[in-house]
Amino acid sequence: MGVISKLLGIVLVVGGGIMFFLGSSDQNMNIIYYFLGLTIMAMGFSLLTAGGKKEEKPNPPTVTEIACDNPECTFKEIRDFQKGDFILKSLETKCPKCQGSMTIQGVYMVREEEPVPTV
Ligand SMILES: [Zn+2]
Repeated sequence: MGVISKLLGIVLVVGGGIMFFLGSSDQNMNIIYYFLGLTIMAMGFSLLTAGGKKEEKPNPPTVTEIACDNPECTFKEIRDFQKGDFILKSLETKCPKCQGSMTIQGVYMVREEEPVPTV
């Protein structure tokens, strides 16, 4: 889909450009070729940019906050989000401080500002 729409966009831009710049041998047809060429070029450009935008948008970086279940232990860790992570999911990973069980406390999208919970 992406490649086809890009190819179509290039074809439209080139075809529209030829119509726009060369026009017609008929003076009365020139103005029609001019606008038609312009419209076709605009369509081609919108196809090209629409395809490009989709590919440029990666998933926003997400982090998972995990904390030790032991109330006397304050161990907390932020790690990269992994598939299947959700809030209050208990993990098999042991706390490196007290060997207690660990639970996911939050899942956050990484932003410039303070983290916003996504779930
Ligand atoms: Zn702990």
